[in-house]
Amino acid sequence: MMDVEVIEKHEIKNRIKIIKGDISELKIDAIVNAANNTLLGGSGVDGAIHKKAGEELLKECQELNGCKTGEAKITKGYNLPSDYIIHTVGPIWEGGNHKEEELLEECYMNSLNLALEHGLKKLAFPSISTGAYGYPVEEASHIALTTVINILEIYGEDLIEKVFFVCFNDEVYNTYKIALEKI
Ligand code: ADP
Repeated sequence: MMDVEVIEKHEIKNRIKIIKGDISELKIDAIVNAANNTLLGGSGVDGAIHKKAGEELLKECQELNGCKTGEAKITKGYNLPSDYIIHTVGPIWEGGNHKEEELLEECYMNSLNLALEHGLKKLAFPSISTGAYGYPVEEASHIALTTVINILEIYGEDLIEKVFFVCFNDEVYNTYKIALEKI
């Protein structure tokens, strides 16, 4: 029984890849944007995505009426190498007692569900909430990885083939690597 569980966990981990780089340069079915409630662009990864995707993205976003924290909405990728962008809004870190964990989990779940609905099998996440929104990377990386692993346990490789975590710097990259080893 134990052996089977170990093998299963290993197989799921093989569908996860932690990489370092700029998510807006990735060519994949969908990249996830750590957006804000307006969906009209902002700083950090959101700024990089809007800048590269172009004005057409802003136009589509203006039709979406914003997005609640923890929820997700999809647009085309326009000038990005990726086909689609899944915009999700992470929680602002307020010390940990303001439903931050629950909301961050929802970001990953709702993004994956949208990917699934649209038949998108390979997607990439940035480290949601850990920049301007101040979520500690150690906690956020653990939530990101466990939430995605739990979903990959339910949805097989035929539905969600691969999930990339794109880390923008060494600190985030190393934290994700260590977090994955511990799971
Ligand atoms: P949030 O407001 O959700 O905190 P940020 O964009 O400020 O979003 O930061 C989220 C994470 O994305 C941070 O770890 C930041 O270093 C990283 N980041 C910033 N630009 C990029 C990019 N182009 N590609 C991938 N990650 C990025």
